[in-house]
This record gives sequence, C-alpha cells and structure tokens, in this order.
Amino acid sequence: MQRFYCNCGQEVYFADTHCVACGKELGFDPSKRHLYCGRRDGRVFIAELPNGAEKRFKVCDNHHEPVRCNWLLALDDPHHQCISCRTTHIIPDQNQPKNPLRWRRLEEAKRRLFDTLISLGLDTRGAPDIINGLRFNFLEDQRTNPNVDLEFVLTGHSHGLITLNAAEADEGFLHAMKEQMNEPYRSLLGHFRHEVGHYYWERLLKSESLVQFRRVFGDERFDYGQALRSYYQYGPQRNWQVSFISAYASSHPFEDWAETWAHYLHITDTLETARMYGLTDYVQARHDFELWVKEWLKVVKVMNALNRSMGLADPYPFVLSPIVMSKLRFIDDLIDSQARI
Ligand SMILES: [Zn+2]
Ligand SMILES: [Zn+2]
Ligand SMILES: [Zn+2]
Repeated sequence: MQRFYCNCGQEVYFADTHCVACGKELGFDPSKRHLYCGRRDGRVFIAELPNGAEKRFKVCDNHHEPVRCNWLLALDDPHHQCISCRTTHIIPDQNQPKNPLRWRRLEEAKRRLFDTLISLGLDTRGAPDIINGLRFNFLEDQRTNPNVDLEFVLTGHSHGLITLNAAEADEGFLHAMKEQMNEPYRSLLGHFRHEVGHYYWERLLKSESLVQFRRVFGDERFDYGQALRSYYQYGPQRNWQVSFISAYASSHPFEDWAETWAHYLHITDTLETARMYGLTDYVQARHDFELWVKEWLKVVKVMNALNRSMGLADPYPFVLSPIVMSKLRFIDDLIDSQARI
C-alpha cells in the first residue's frame, strides 16, 4: 500500500473520506492509484492538484453510508459505481443491525484487494470466457441470522462468482473461526486474496502453462470433493510444511494454488508498504524473484520482531521452503508474462 498526503501536508489513508486536518474531501482514482484531496459538487469530485489545476471525476454511488467508498470514476464512465463496488451483487440485509458495518468492512477489504491487483497489472474487469467476470455475493447464514434460508454459507469461488460469509467481517466471528480452523492468520482480506486466486487460475492458466502448473502444484483433475472431505476428516498431509504454505494448501492443488496466490498478494502489498515507510528501497519489478524473496525475508524479520515487542503473535508465522518458493516463482513468472504488458 502506498502513502498519501493531503495538499495541506497531512498524511491521509487509503479508506479516508476526509482530511482530519483541513476537512477537505478525499477521492481515490484506482487507475492511477492516487488519493486526491478536493471538494464534491453533487456527484462530481473536483480534485485539487498541488499545481493549482483541477481534475473532475464522478464519485462512486456508494460514497454515502454505510460503505463510505472514496473511489472515483472517469467523468465519461457509464457506470455509477466504482470498479470495485460494482462487482458486488448481493449484500446482507441492511435492516439487521450488524450488517451495515459488515458491508463497509467487506467493501474496504475488497478495494484493498483491487488496489493490489491493479498494481500488478491484472485485469479485474472480467473476461469473455468467464460468465460476467469477477463478482461477489456477501451472504448470511443461520448461525448469525435465523431469518435467512441458508443454514451454512461457505466462502468459495465458482466461475468468477465469489461468495463470502458476511459474518467474517465481525471480529468475534473471525476470532472464533481462527480458533476452530486453527488459522491464526485468518483475515477478511486473506479470504478475498485466496478466492480471487481461483478466479485468476481460470483466467491465466492456458494449455502450456497448465502443463507446468501440474509439475509444480500437482494434478488439479484429482477429485476435488473427495480431497476436501479427506482433508476435513483426516487433517492435512503429514509434513505439509515441506511442500505447502499452509496446512489447507495440502488439501488439493486448486487450494494450494489459491493459498500460494493469496500469499503472493500479501507479500506484494506488504513489501510496498514497507518501502513507503523506509524499511526497504526495493520496488517490485519483472523477473526479479530472488531479490523479491530476499527483501521480503528482511521485512518479515522486522515485522515479527515488532509484534513480539508488543507481546503479540508473529504476523508472519510462515516458512518459505524451497518447494513453496518454486510455487511462488511460478505465480511470479505467470503474472510477469501475462499481466504486466
Ligand atoms: Zn488536508
Ligand atoms: Zn465504490
Ligand atoms: Zn479455495
């Protein structure tokens, strides 16, 4: 994540709608990954550039409560919602007291996801071969709302449609799931990054890269349902740490890919943040995987040490074994060759 400053000099943050120092409105242009300060005139955001010039945008339809989306659209864009908000198709019942805040958190995490995808040059707008492209349903189940039909909502992906249990946006629910699933690093953003990995698998893997994929991750044609049943019944593969980034990654090559993909996005975003705060000079570039890993391991040391000083758990309890590195390298090569054109 980048750092942003208002024209008055105050540091402002990615999801901010106003500068706390001067009160100016803030709007984020995802195409430039830039947070502007300015003013709003109805549906138009007038960005005030430091040189005194102005630039006009449309505000996202979700700029109001509860989402408070600060993303902008080009004036001639036919859409009313920003590139992220318009991928949401179902939201949880806004008459239930907790749901407005859940929706805001879900959208904020999604915008963070989109920002990283954009930084990597990945297309978020869908593809003709996948029905309607990337889209999201945020659903509730009877564990948190007895009035809904669904007994159990599982987070998952199907041909571009990502379903998330809206309750994952609750700290309490997330904490309970962390314990239950033994996933101390579970997070809303992590869910988005994992599920979108399944989507990009469908988009980026073509016949030649599929052969290579199977060499690195295994054969994805292996019975998926059976693999997951076996994982939940008998647990992860023994010594999974040697070959997989997480226990769950050992359940099936598809899940291994999505877990490793999520990890790639975690590293990409966190390394950019680390650079912005002076922890490294490294700028992610094409074909520099070794340097990318080297810089990441330096940043991890600092990150974990800072948390230990605060009496908190390591934010990065992962081990990058040689096999896991080869999987990350495969993803890096694929993104380099297909996305950053
Ligand atoms: Zn300001
Ligand atoms: Zn929006
Ligand atoms: Zn998955």
